[in-house]
Amino acid sequence: MGREELWNRCLEFLKSKMDAISFSIWFKESELVNIKEGTLVIRVQNIYVKDHINLYYTELLEEMLEHCSDITYSFEVVIQEDIDKSEVKEEVIFEEALDLPKFKEDNSNLNPSYTFDNFVIGDTNRFAATVGLSVAEQPGKVYNPLFIYGKSGLGKTHLMHAIGNFIKANSTKSVLYVTSDTFISDFTNLYKKDEEKYELEQKFKDKYRNVDVLIIDDIQFLGGATKTQDEFFNTFNFLHQGQKQIIISSDRSPDDLKVLEDRLKTRFNWGITVNITPPDYELRLKIIKNKIAGTEVSTLIKPEVLEFIANNCESDVRHLEGTINRLYAVTAMYSPKEINLEFAQENLKDYIGNSLYITNNIAKIQKAVAEFYDLTVENLKSKKRTANINKARQVAMYICKMTTEETIERIGLEFNRDHATVIHACDKIEDEYKKSEDLKNEIKEIKNKITN
Ligand code: ADP
Ligand code: MG
Repeated sequence: MGREELWNRCLEFLKSKMDAISFSIWFKESELVNIKEGTLVIRVQNIYVKDHINLYYTELLEEMLEHCSDITYSFEVVIQEDIDKSEVKEEVIFEEALDLPKFKEDNSNLNPSYTFDNFVIGDTNRFAATVGLSVAEQPGKVYNPLFIYGKSGLGKTHLMHAIGNFIKANSTKSVLYVTSDTFISDFTNLYKKDEEKYELEQKFKDKYRNVDVLIIDDIQFLGGATKTQDEFFNTFNFLHQGQKQIIISSDRSPDDLKVLEDRLKTRFNWGITVNITPPDYELRLKIIKNKIAGTEVSTLIKPEVLEFIANNCESDVRHLEGTINRLYAVTAMYSPKEINLEFAQENLKDYIGNSLYITNNIAKIQKAVAEFYDLTVENLKSKKRTANINKARQVAMYICKMTTEETIERIGLEFNRDHATVIHACDKIEDEYKKSEDLKNEIKEIKNKITN
């Protein structure tokens, strides 16, 4: 196999593992420029691409090498400048023999770039991540099934792949990831006429019953077809009885899955149900920092831009990611000296609207209130209900409601509370405000702090 063939094969592999846009941004222009002492030297177009690949794709590249060749290669991502600088440039380069092709069977459908390592944890997904890790460490033993639910773009698929990848890396257990759509189409294919029904059924059973861990994504689409539900029910029972791990995700809780039969819902409740809710401001900030860590962007970006993005990409991590990718792209395109607010607003406007509010008002108020009462913002967001924390929290909610445009829901989200709690707090403080001169002064002072 020649160099070109090897590299084509690598690119095919990458393509099959990534979505088309990511592939075209990060790998389409890459070239295998050399093979030196067991290392593939991969040239990419600029420093941003290099940083990004080194940050997010090393595991995938390792997997690619493992998959595409029998020789154990390592790799190095370079840009032209690195090649120019390299002292060994003039040396005659010894290109090693490329050996036999190898394609290992891996039918798990797992995306290696979704791992626990890059799953950022905050208040809104901590429970799900913790339970997920327990399942990953003890598949089939602790929580079975594991049912993960939450709105779109909050990390359910990522978490499921992370569990699958963990199991694959740390045990010999076999894992299968499918969406419920795939399950449905595999099942409907059984009724095509051109192959022996028996053979098809065997194939189907081989695929779904011969695994240690079955991951089914977006189960809400299983609705409607009762025959498919029957088959899923049977598959579920078969695996569960054999103590095989089942992991399911859905955009709503088992009880709200109206189209599913009760006997399935009952089974989903046998194990554990975890909910992922939209990330709060802190988690959004953490995710952004995590995604840009170690890259050129992180050295150029001003802190207020981080706040700006965290503040404007409100409730969905997928959107947040899209915005960050856009930031990479425009940074690569314009090479700004720094990424300041003006640059971000101008270039991200299609992504996060032309919103003018820049700082997070709620976060600001929380900080001011916490400082005023000698507490921390964490105190305010915690479940703690001691008198002083409770009061401070209610005051903070009240000020948020009175001085910002934020909805009650949004305020609640930033305090880890539901909307009824916010209303109750605001009513209570409003009442006291009328009676207590002290409280009036406190609030006045806090407001002064915020506006200064
Ligand atoms: P869902 O399946 O709930 O719709 P995904 O798992 O597809 O959401 O997540 C959308 C995107 O956001 C993915 O690229 C994922 O990697 C990313 N993402 C979601 N949650 C996190 C997190 N906690 N840390 C890092 N990335 C996350
Ligand atoms: Mg998903």
